[in-house]
Amino acid sequence: MASKYQPVIGLEVHAVLETRSKMFCACPVVDSTVGEPNIAVCPICAGMPGMLPVINEAAVEYALRVALALNCTINLTSIFARKSYFYPDLPKGFQISQYEQPLAQNGWLTIDTVDGEQRVAIRRVHIEEDTGKLTHVERDGERYSLVDLNRSGVPLLEIVTEPELHSVEAVRNCAYALRSILRYVGVNSGNLEKGLMRIEPNISIRPVGSREFGTRAEIKNLNSFRSLERATTYELARQEQLVEAGGAVVQQTLGWDDARGTTQAQRSKEVAEDYRYFPEPDLPPLVVEKAWVEKIRKGLPELPQARRERFISKYGLKAYDANVIVAEREVADFYEAAVAAAKTADAKLIANWLTGPLFGLMNEAGVEMGDLRFGAKQLAALCDQVAVGKVNAAGAREVLGVLFAEGGSPASIIKARGLQQISDSGQLAAWVGEVIAAHPKQSADYLAGNAPLLNFLFGQVMQKAGGKANPAAVRDELQAQLSKLGK
Ligand code: ADP
Ligand code: MG
Ligand code: ZN
Repeated sequence: MASKYQPVIGLEVHAVLETRSKMFCACPVVDSTVGEPNIAVCPICAGMPGMLPVINEAAVEYALRVALALNCTINLTSIFARKSYFYPDLPKGFQISQYEQPLAQNGWLTIDTVDGEQRVAIRRVHIEEDTGKLTHVERDGERYSLVDLNRSGVPLLEIVTEPELHSVEAVRNCAYALRSILRYVGVNSGNLEKGLMRIEPNISIRPVGSREFGTRAEIKNLNSFRSLERATTYELARQEQLVEAGGAVVQQTLGWDDARGTTQAQRSKEVAEDYRYFPEPDLPPLVVEKAWVEKIRKGLPELPQARRERFISKYGLKAYDANVIVAEREVADFYEAAVAAAKTADAKLIANWLTGPLFGLMNEAGVEMGDLRFGAKQLAALCDQVAVGKVNAAGAREVLGVLFAEGGSPASIIKARGLQQISDSGQLAAWVGEVIAAHPKQSADYLAGNAPLLNFLFGQVMQKAGGKANPAAVRDELQAQLSKLGK
């Protein structure tokens, strides 16, 4: 349905930098969704007075990798600032963040939209620290909150896009693209459920054709891509209805309630003044050497966008297939290793087997590339067997199922299960002859113009062959014998 309004959306993404230790102390970064609370805490991250923070160099390097991958300008000097607010999970009463001079700014990334590729501008990328976590409990009629500081002081990267996304699809693809980049450069595993990556869309609408921005609402608590899509869709509809009814959108922070599928007002949006930002007096400006930045830039892997272009031109893949293969670095590596190992099978055949049957098995079992019981060489070997006609598609699927369940070598699985494709022309001709003789009516009807009956006859031949006949050869032979019959 064409709407009178255009969605205008910008993303704020927080990504945990999965370093060994925290941002300003030596405490380890632990998974704060499992295990004991408050086991990775020291006076610095517990916010004791008089403690001095020390910048974690690894976190700065991780942040630079992302900023460079996002084509940002790096500020060789950036400033840490105190963002003051009170909340029980923030023991210091302020969060160390970056405000006026962030680590990096003015970058971009490319995303797919229904209207083709779009370059989305990145406003800024900065480093900050995470807060602790509160758990609200109710026991024996009493309600209270427990504080866990394991997460307090964990390095976080904040990535802010310009408000340039104009559809739910663009929002989703932008979030996917950011996640893919974070994973490629090895700083974040991209797990939304565990809160390692948190996405907050800022959403407004404006009349189509208008250049002014509408008032925006920001949505928090999205812990999956599905909720991101649902919440964005919901919020756009809510704003449209509101405006259509003569109301006005209020600038506020909304929480997403996944169970009810609605947003709820959390608090009216703070403005920067409320935070009383000022330079962090306990930390010097963060100065990064140009040579170090360049070294990090050179060390970046080939990024998804570039890799996708290369897959299209070098391997002749369709854009869609290239996209799904490059989305995960592990998958793209596996694919390229298989292409390199294959003797006969071409890159397209391998892409088909990877994105079709293999992804199917993996999705069904919830298995990732790293958990497979076989390697790229085995996939290549299987595709080779298909390419040289040793096994047909149905047989190869069976082989893949065995590889997936228990590993092994395609050649021995084919042998052990008797899956060798039958291409012997004498044998195929005999089966085809028998089938035509046994189905004179269907054969005559086919010749009289009932084309789909060819599939029926084909199925009969395949049945005789126990599914192992070469399908292309069977079709050729069927057509040859039937057309002779028709003369
Ligand atoms: P704040 O610092 O208060 O969070 P910013 O102006 O830095 O606000 O913007 C935060 C996010 O909101 C950015 O991703 C930006 O693109 C987005 N944004 C800003 N204005 C709008 C708007 N009118 N509609 C939608 N998104 C917006
Ligand atoms: Mg904000
Ligand atoms: Zn600590």
